Amino acid sequence: MNRVEVKEDNVCLKRIEEKCINCGMCLTTCKQNNDFENDCINCGQCIMTCPSGALVPKYDYQKVINYIKDTNYTVVVFVAPAVRVAIGDAFGFEPGSFLEGKLVSALKKIGFDYVFDTTFGADLTIMEEANELIDRKLSNNTPMFTSCCPSWVLYANKYHPEIIKNISTCKSPIAMQGAMIKSYFADMYNIKKEQIKAISLTPCISKKYERTLYPETDIVITTSELILMIKELGINFNDLEDSEFDRLLGKGSGGGLIFGVSGGVMESVLRTAYYMVNKEKAPEEFYEFTNIRGEKDFKEAEVNFMKFKIKIAVISKVSTIKKYFEKLKEYDFIEVMSCPGGCIGGGGQPLNAIKSMEEIRKSRIDNMYQNDREQKIRESYKNPEIQDAYDSYINKKGVNLHTNNK
Ligand code: SF4
Ligand code: SF4
Ligand code: SF4
Repeated sequence: MNRVEVKEDNVCLKRIEEKCINCGMCLTTCKQNNDFENDCINCGQCIMTCPSGALVPKYDYQKVINYIKDTNYTVVVFVAPAVRVAIGDAFGFEPGSFLEGKLVSALKKIGFDYVFDTTFGADLTIMEEANELIDRKLSNNTPMFTSCCPSWVLYANKYHPEIIKNISTCKSPIAMQGAMIKSYFADMYNIKKEQIKAISLTPCISKKYERTLYPETDIVITTSELILMIKELGINFNDLEDSEFDRLLGKGSGGGLIFGVSGGVMESVLRTAYYMVNKEKAPEEFYEFTNIRGEKDFKEAEVNFMKFKIKIAVISKVSTIKKYFEKLKEYDFIEVMSCPGGCIGGGGQPLNAIKSMEEIRKSRIDNMYQNDREQKIRESYKNPEIQDAYDSYINKKGVNLHTNNK
């Protein structure tokens, strides 16, 4: 067999047989990225290199349009960080253009009742994960791996069940935001949760699989599916004015935003964990962590927390995990993302025929960091909407923000 196998029951990916030219590129990509044959973990990288467009995400956007038309439902969409630096590729913008305002307007025009920012969910994940990191460090229960990439977690379950106990118990930002929409948002707006449809818009096909584990999110659609929706509904994206996300779950910090790039989860968690340990803002280098930024497959550093030091590693691509597996015991905290460059390079992002994927990913990464620098609030613990959510709801009523991975 010279091409990847796409099973009928794969909820993330499909092959349009009539378009396949049997070139074998998908298998080459899968081996480079994951170092195995025919055992799909839903990373979606084969979609990015299939030359004939035969591989595509499993499309779910028609179901979303049907929910929007059905007046019985309040339809809420929440937008992952990396979508806003990729959508412009389909409408003639320079790769990496930061188009948050137009993106929100497009979603409102499509007819979503509320448009929220998943950077809010990312800030929640950062708060919970920073706490967990400190607990584990103080009790020598390390290393701790990040949990927000479902392809990585699936890989660990299949090939290294012995390290599941080392994966953070925090749900991913999308799973946390889905849980908050069906509890906090539903209660605050007095809407029955059965009447809410929570739609996650992501750069990632693997989140379609993750959703089956955390069904508070009803449907996951990718950036590429949103582009199809915009085009099919005849919306002129280029002429849209900017709009802002809706409040309550609509504002994240710079830290929440850089979740979309490799090294970003790590950098954001460290900013907040430093504050939790020392009760003061982290030093400047926590805001420009150059040695864990960029697209290298393996990055490492040692970070001074005053009371102790933390050894960190940042990995992109599952094949890199295989290469460094034995060495990983030396670290306290390890971020793993399955896609090159992190979620900005996810399999649900649009394809671009003009520039190389590497150049495009670099522009997306640069623009994410630039936007973090421009944010007034760059740390999750300072986000007032997060403080409100904890004070007025999570600490009183309890929302399940953790998995059962133990
Ligand atoms: S989605 Fe990823 S793991 Fe699955 S076949 Fe494609 S490249 Fe391989
Ligand atoms: S890369 Fe695309 S065209 Fe080539 S074998 Fe795979 S599915 Fe077919
Ligand atoms: S790196 Fe991001 S886009 Fe890629 S599979 Fe993981 S979560 Fe999805």
